[in-house]
Amino acid sequence: MKTAPVTLDHTLSALHNTLVQLSKWGCRGFDCSPQSLAILKKWTDPMDAQAVGEELDAIRSDLGECTRCGLSAKRTHLVFGEGDPKAELMFVGEGPGQEEDRSGKPFVGPAGQLLTRIIEAMHLTRDQVYICNVVKCRPPDNRNPEPVEIQTCRPFLDRQIKAVAPKVICTLGSVATKVLLDTDQAVSRLRGRFHEYDGIKVMPTYHPAYLLRQPDQKRLVWDDMKKIMALLRIPL
Ligand code: URA
Repeated sequence: MKTAPVTLDHTLSALHNTLVQLSKWGCRGFDCSPQSLAILKKWTDPMDAQAVGEELDAIRSDLGECTRCGLSAKRTHLVFGEGDPKAELMFVGEGPGQEEDRSGKPFVGPAGQLLTRIIEAMHLTRDQVYICNVVKCRPPDNRNPEPVEIQTCRPFLDRQIKAVAPKVICTLGSVATKVLLDTDQAVSRLRGRFHEYDGIKVMPTYHPAYLLRQPDQKRLVWDDMKKIMALLRIPL
């Protein structure tokens, strides 16, 4: 059976009829905020969200009570990651700190509270993004993770990224940036523009722990966040 081509005229006329009907029902406006659109997206494809949630559950369960590297010896909790399994924006940090190790949640200590404020300044909530780290267990005394620890944990990060399939990844600080962009260049040289990892846009920026020590750099991070907001069509 032949179907009639959908022309712009048809589309506009259908839109007009819909608006007339909505107006008759008393509708006087639309909430097109990113928050509402994200909620509607989940309502329209709940099976997808469930499938991705299950994929993340499978990755978490493959990690199990991981002892693949030495970091496991001193951890209290493994910190897998949390947020919307279908988030358009994913933050990747370095590794859990003291508060994260204690609670099992990413970015909940002082640096995490600053990250939460940054996310809220972007008109988003932590529930609408996905937050995780390069290594899932706390490096003792908050030292940088060793190459072997990063390598051991890497397949799980890669699987998380594949499962969530965000539109953009924001790498927080030099460790996450080096790992995803496979570079030794400083964040100061890379930030401010999008790079790519596996076909996904990556915006490197300063780690919130660094911002706590250098608050004058917050302006630059906000510039980076505004670029992400523009990409995701989140109005300022
Ligand atoms: N710093 C990180 O890189 N990740 C956390 O989860 C907390 C602090």
